[in-house]
Parts: sequence; structure tokens; C-alpha cells
Amino acid sequence: MTAAVRRARETEPADALPLGPPHRNATLTALNETHDPQLRSWVASANTQGNDFPIQNLPFGAFSRAHSQEAFRVGVAIGDQILDLTAAYASGAFNGSDDALAATQACCVPTLNALMDLGPSAWSALRLALSRALRLGAPEQALLAPCLLPQDQAEFAVPARIGDYTDFYTSVHHATNIGKLLRPDNPLLPNYKWMPIGYHGRSSSIGVSGQAVRRPISQVMRPGVSAPELAASARLDYELEVGVYLGRGNALGEPIALDQAEQHVFGLCLFNDWSARDVQGWEYQPLGPFLSKNFASTVSPWVITLEALAPYRQAWTRAEGDPQPLPYLDSTALRCQGAINIALEVYLQSAAMRDQGLPPHRVSHSNFRDAYWTVSQMVAHHTVGGCNLQSGDLLGSGTQSGAAADEAGSLMELSLGGKQPLSLPSGETRTFLEDGDTVVFRGHCQANGAARIGFGEVRGTVLPARSLTA
Ligand code: CA
Repeated sequence: MTAAVRRARETEPADALPLGPPHRNATLTALNETHDPQLRSWVASANTQGNDFPIQNLPFGAFSRAHSQEAFRVGVAIGDQILDLTAAYASGAFNGSDDALAATQACCVPTLNALMDLGPSAWSALRLALSRALRLGAPEQALLAPCLLPQDQAEFAVPARIGDYTDFYTSVHHATNIGKLLRPDNPLLPNYKWMPIGYHGRSSSIGVSGQAVRRPISQVMRPGVSAPELAASARLDYELEVGVYLGRGNALGEPIALDQAEQHVFGLCLFNDWSARDVQGWEYQPLGPFLSKNFASTVSPWVITLEALAPYRQAWTRAEGDPQPLPYLDSTALRCQGAINIALEVYLQSAAMRDQGLPPHRVSHSNFRDAYWTVSQMVAHHTVGGCNLQSGDLLGSGTQSGAAADEAGSLMELSLGGKQPLSLPSGETRTFLEDGDTVVFRGHCQANGAARIGFGEVRGTVLPARSLTA
């Protein structure tokens, strides 16, 4: 156990934050024995350096055996394996804890919604039971070893039933970059620094990593002509986002206060909000994105719980000279640790690169800690007017871009609106995505005195548009 974890456990009461004043999110942000970086698992692959799923991570997803007729079911990633929670429940390995047993029972279904509905104390109880049962030397090994399936023998589903999806716009760098391209004289609109801007998106077209995304068709207005045409998008793009899954919802008319917001958040994933820029440019005024965003969005298979992210929390600040948030979007806990340090990366692989055996090429990177608005602010603002969120609802963070030129989370920004092509290792160039291109996002967290945990990846490949004449 590191000094940081030991200090937190010895000196802090169970309901207090190690890094700030007590508050109601303590179960999700306090360090506890599950975060101890010295922990090792009897699943040997979980202990290898740089692997995304050490025993300190324990993310949830929905899987089935590839090429089988088996139903999808909830599992936990550990090393290169998946612990099948339906099988684990039947094994009796969790019979020692009523809370953990009830939580495991809620996982004997195809989606995470039932577990999400149980709330943070159940999530924590299950995480603790999983951590103890998967540790090196745990007596549960004999019961649980037969419940493992290698990840490379599994296929995945969208892990929750996503009733509603809302996409935010929390990176001020992205908002400014895009604003400059759309409105050079007025890049950042006056509301941006006062509230988390968002729009209600489309959940039916959200798929899981591995998704093949058909190039969309819609109205576009080409430069220099007087009428739009129906055409395949020529400016297809990705958006590097973090997805936020709601846990327990709220009743209609009852807002979620900022300091309770994270009690309602189950966990985070990687999220690609595919976007058709030429479609967007013609349709977005006055009501915002429509067909430019509704044809596909892709989530990573694994949901990293908020509790797993506790060691990577950071202070949230608002620059002097910027408006300070209104009281319903501000709190001491937010200031102490509202931000989350998640390193994000974008890789691109063309069909030619695949043919030549060239690996995906990293085109940009950024960090979720640089978001202008936090997870709790998104939840508090979304509900302040009484809107009810439900378990499994997904909030997109908006494209995460940093201040530097190579920290842009979309091709629209990297290519300066199509004016400056990127070079690929195959000798090809890109301004926007071509058919056959594969886009891969990866994410991971690191902090002093904590294990490195990863998000895995979200991957999608562009298919040609449907024929307009068929
Ligand atoms: Ca977006």
C-alpha cells in the first residue's frame, strides 16, 4: 500500500474526502483499499505493466461469446479476461456480502441498467467484493476461475439501455476553434462561459466499438452555388469525447444539486460522436445539429466507474477574468476535485495502411481535465429546470480539445476546416475521413501513488455512402 492510500485510510473517517472537506460524494471520490496500487490479481494478465484493466480498474460491460447464440450479459474486465457476473453469481463466490450479492444479481441481465438503478452504495459494495475476490491468494479463485472468458473471444454490446442521449460542448478550446471556422468575427457566443451548452441527441444510432459507420447522406450547400443538393457528406469527421452514463435518475421536477450530481453518475466511457461537417454547416442554424450528428455515435465497451477514477481527480478552476459560475454550478467539492485527469488519444488507420500492415497512427491527444465544465456541472445544469434523467442515459462531453494545435479532438480543427491536410505514414493525406478509414480513441489515467488504469478503446470504420440512385 502506498503512503498516499495508507494516509487516506488511517486519518480520514469513512465518509470524508482525503483531499478536501467532507461532502456527499465521498463514497465515489474517497480513496479506499480497492485503489491500493500494490494490489495484484490471480488473473496474471491483470498484473502486466501498461495493461488497461488491472485490479484497481474493474470496469463493467456487456458481452457474449463471439459467434455464439448466447445472450449478452454483464461482465467485468480484468487483465485480458472478462469475469462473467451471471456465472459468478451462480458460483456462490459473493454469498458473504448481502449488498454485493444483490448487486451481482442485478448484473444477471443483458444491460447495466438494473445495477445502475441500485445506486452508489451497491456499486461500491460490488467493487469491493470484486477487488477482494480477484486478489492474489483470494479463496474465491477456485469458484471464479471458471467464470472467465478471454476478451479476444468475446463480442460486445452497448452496455446500457440508453433512453436519452445529450451532447454537451464542454471544451472551450474546441468551441473557440469551431467558432472561428464558422463565425470568424464572433467565435465564442456569450452564453458559453455561463453554462454548459448542450443539445438533445439521438440514442437509437449509438453503437459499440467495432461499429461500421455508413457515410451519411443529407442536404449540403456547396460553396459558390445558390441551392443545396442531396449528397453524401464529403466532410465526415470524428469527435473525441468522454461519455457519461447516468446511474440512478431523478424524479421529474426535482433537480439534482451539484454536490449530489456524482451520486447519480455510474461511470465514464470513450465516445466518438461522428459528425458530417458539410451537413452541419448548412443545417445548424437556428436549432443546432440534426442529420449531421444523428447517423451514428460509438461507445467503448467498458464503463469505468466513478469510484475507479477517484485517484485521478484534480482541482477544478475558473481562470481569473472569466465569469465565475452561478451558485448552482459551483461548490467547494467541485473546486477541490471536480476535474478528472484522463489522457485521451486519437489514432487513424486508412485502408491502405491496413493493407500495408501499418498500425493506426496517432493524430492528436488531449486531456479531459481541461474541460471548461465538469461532469457534475453537466448533470446539475441538465436537471435544474426539472428535467428527469434516467439510469443508462448518456451525456457526451463534447469534443475534447486542448490549447495546443496537436490537441484538437476533430479533423475539422486539425485540418483547419479542410485547408491543411494531415500526412499519414502511408504517404496519404487527410482533411476529412475517407471510406475505409478506421478511427480509434484510447484513454488512460495515471497519478502519483496510484495504478495506471485504461479505458480500452473505441473503434469504428467508415463505409461508403448508400447509392443515391438505388
Ligand atoms: Ca459532439
